[in-house]
Amino acid sequence: MKREDGKYAFASHFDPATGFYCRTGVLDENGHDTGVDPFMAEFPELLDIGVMGHCAHGLSGECARAGIQCYQSGATVHQDNMALDDFRWIVDQSRGRVFQFALGGRGDPELHSDFEEMLAYSRDNGIVPNLTTSGFLLDGKRAALIAKYCGAAAVSWYRTEHTLRAIDLLLQAGVRTNIHFLLGGDTVDEAIGLLQGDGLPQGVNRVVFLLFKPVGQGRQDNVLVPDDSRVATFFRLMDTDRGLRIAGFDSCSVPAIINHTSVIDRNAFDTCEGARFSAYITPDMKLLPCSFDQEMRWAFDLRAGGASIAEGWESPGFEDFRSRLRDACPHCAQRSLCMGGCPIRPEIVLCKNRHEYRACRESA
Ligand code: SF4
Ligand code: SF4
Repeated sequence: MKREDGKYAFASHFDPATGFYCRTGVLDENGHDTGVDPFMAEFPELLDIGVMGHCAHGLSGECARAGIQCYQSGATVHQDNMALDDFRWIVDQSRGRVFQFALGGRGDPELHSDFEEMLAYSRDNGIVPNLTTSGFLLDGKRAALIAKYCGAAAVSWYRTEHTLRAIDLLLQAGVRTNIHFLLGGDTVDEAIGLLQGDGLPQGVNRVVFLLFKPVGQGRQDNVLVPDDSRVATFFRLMDTDRGLRIAGFDSCSVPAIINHTSVIDRNAFDTCEGARFSAYITPDMKLLPCSFDQEMRWAFDLRAGGASIAEGWESPGFEDFRSRLRDACPHCAQRSLCMGGCPIRPEIVLCKNRHEYRACRESA
């Protein structure tokens, strides 16, 4: 699938069969690539959709017992799940513009009562759905639906017997299956062990490391800091043969990738794409630059009369979010690759040179 962005003069390509994605640099008037990365797209290419408003496992305390600090506050917040009509409204506006949906929210998306209809409607309209699950209640029937419609699935690494059973069910069904590993102060030693060769289930496509953020039930004391020597140890392992073969990371980790790796191709990743190439929609239809904006600082209400996703994308709140990426770290040589990292939680940015971090150290 190819998409040409008339407003920001670039083209992007997505292969629904493999998940391969690439985009050109900004094109000049003759269609030649200038080599300059486009800052944003005219409409999100990826939508993260919170179809789930509440989580049975969170309310039962199951996740907390597994040591999970839910950023969606699944243990205390109960919202209605997204209505099928709202989901269809999103698809209708995304047709021909969005390549992929990432289904999630406060709970496991395969437990939504309209799960199959949502998957089928996405596919019928040329959009590839993907999802993340804890796997607690995954069964063979739901795994088969995921195999039929989804590009890939990720199982959150909760280290329970459910985790291994869910991975097994998905692999047996033929799903490209990743592990989502939350990388924080309490797990970085285990992550180092995984990259050095311990304990990855057979058949898994990749283990994707997601940087911990102190959002929702996430505790501040679990945030990794740039001075922690384990941060350098971990990210340097990304440069090894095993790291390059089995690992992936979220764009929130890009400052650390820039500071600690040298082999990973700088053309192969992008920094925070919130409000630039992706956005999140809550179960009650708020458009956010990123799902971690749980305080709704940049929210645009899609239920306001006549509102559209395009209007939210162009809203002053989204423009304010972008300005933080545009203006961060003006003197850094890596600025165009990194843009200062996370606008929502600057304390997660793993860079000793970021101005907030330096100011904090200087005043200590
Ligand atoms: S100084 Fe800012 S832009 Fe440069 S690498 Fe650090 S966080 Fe990124
Ligand atoms: S806004 Fe922050 S949490 Fe969200 S994708 Fe960007 S860096 Fe990650």
